[in-house]
Amino acid sequence: MTIEFRKIPCPFCNVPAVDSQIFPKEIRYKISRAAGRSITTTYAIPEKTEILSGCLSCGKSKTEIKDVLKGNKSILDVKKRKKRLEDLKALGFSGVITKNKQVIIGE
Ligand SMILES: [Zn+2]
Repeated sequence: MTIEFRKIPCPFCNVPAVDSQIFPKEIRYKISRAAGRSITTTYAIPEKTEILSGCLSCGKSKTEIKDVLKGNKSILDVKKRKKRLEDLKALGFSGVITKNKQVIIGE
């Protein structure tokens, strides 16, 4: 198995400035024994991309890029969240969330 290092395009600015590591698709065999017989099952591990850095072009963080690529968040969500956080900070929010006074950002 060869692990490849590649610069992938940033989902925010489309500049290939994000360091990533590509783990190629892999075929594995699993041998299970049942009632004196061994059964070989084949299964594939899909290609995996590991993000190693943030974007060197627009400065987005590794976490933000990961979230968007995984489909956990849309680019809009990240932008909205950041905007919300900036708004809160403008109102004097310190960024510290306490137990009793919970601040929930986003829906
Ligand atoms: Zn970027």
